[in-house]
Amino acid sequence: MPRNYEIAELKRLDVAHHLPAQQDYKLIEDMGGSRIVTHAEGCYIHDGDGNRILDGMAGLWCVNVGYGRDELVEVAAEQMRELPFYNTFFKTVTPPTVLLAQKIAQHTGGKLQHVFFNASGSEANDTVFRMVRHYWKLKGEPKRTVFISRWNAYHGSTVAGVSLGGMKAMHAQGDLPVPGVEHVRQPYWFGEGFGQDPVQFGKDCAAAIEERILAVGPENVAAFIGEPVQGAGGVIIPPPGYWQEVEAICRKYGILLVADEVICGFGRTGQWFGHQTYGFTPDLVPMAKGLSSGYLPISATAVSSDIVEVLKTGGDFVHGFTYSGHPVAAAVALANIGIIEREGLVERTREDTGPYLARALTRLLAHELVGEVRSIGLLGAVEIVSKKGTNQRWLGAEGNAGPVVRDLCIKNGLMVRGIRDTIVMCPPLIISHQQIDDMVDIIGKSLDEALPVLRAL
Ligand code: PMP
Repeated sequence: MPRNYEIAELKRLDVAHHLPAQQDYKLIEDMGGSRIVTHAEGCYIHDGDGNRILDGMAGLWCVNVGYGRDELVEVAAEQMRELPFYNTFFKTVTPPTVLLAQKIAQHTGGKLQHVFFNASGSEANDTVFRMVRHYWKLKGEPKRTVFISRWNAYHGSTVAGVSLGGMKAMHAQGDLPVPGVEHVRQPYWFGEGFGQDPVQFGKDCAAAIEERILAVGPENVAAFIGEPVQGAGGVIIPPPGYWQEVEAICRKYGILLVADEVICGFGRTGQWFGHQTYGFTPDLVPMAKGLSSGYLPISATAVSSDIVEVLKTGGDFVHGFTYSGHPVAAAVALANIGIIEREGLVERTREDTGPYLARALTRLLAHELVGEVRSIGLLGAVEIVSKKGTNQRWLGAEGNAGPVVRDLCIKNGLMVRGIRDTIVMCPPLIISHQQIDDMVDIIGKSLDEALPVLRAL
């Protein structure tokens, strides 16, 4: 839109009328309104106060190809002129929607040859929820309704998304989860397995899934759902072997395996999908974010041919959204995937920038506040501790160290997220070596500045 606004007035209107996502409205009021982000290019965002900020979060884990891609703007404008909208309810579909389904199937590969479109990651998981239960009924096993998930998982903000997710604070609002969701421990070695052999810890976490399956009764379990790497939970990278164990357990009891790739998809971990990085084969794959690099809202749920064959025996699957397969979003997603392919961003993440980030992060290990650094591809985390060599948090400030360091990072020109006592990062896949160094240097400087603040807490 034209830049004919006053920033101070926008802030006032923000407080007066706008309710932001996942936010404390009183806090925003006390701040005098949200930061107004006005424009962006490449890996940088700009705010109304004149700050240029390196975007270490790729928007919200999504702007994989970076900002300012005119090619995507032109594709959107062309598709809007041609056909701005049509639905997929009336035995109808639009060209970009079909071509995008084919393109996704090409990258998921194997039996994941079918795609259901939605507008958000949460909806992609709602589709999983309803499709899986419907599938088991059609298959003649109607008791299989239970989903097993992990504590601290994030699967969205809708009723099904929050229920599948394992965020206790989210469950508390809205009396969730809905019945039929069981949560087990997460493979968070630094937080919950510190001092143990990581591989054995991963095995124990997988064994917790089997124990729950047996407790619930395998005949009642529909699916296990997990993010290949838990993103919003704090970039929790599972120990080697964890996913192989989980896959074997699901197969042993005939349970469907769902890989929530909303963050891990489209190159983030150095392969097209996180399950490819970890070497397992899911039956359903919800995805969003990097699918369109956030240029327009769109998500997809990839489904195996085995499941679709069963769905074909059931008449209408009475599920779907007005914006399922939106032609403009689909055209932009298709062009976005074209950029990722053409520029080799998946390979670059795997072979160049991912390893470069991993090496750069090790520089922070010398800092007295840092307990661990970890990364996979361009997804990284820094654990903040009160006592070097331990996983102890700041006494009296448990969960506060992340936000303290995050705020200092933003002041110093880097957008990152603070999740409890962890700083997480997820930059655009176009990030350069120099920008990775800048990111790590700013985190280091912010940790220095955080020390007296944390001591005073
Ligand atoms: N699943 C995962 C793994 C996510 O990270 C998110 C969003 N951060 C979602 C689902 C929900 O996506 P959305 O916010 O687009 O509904």
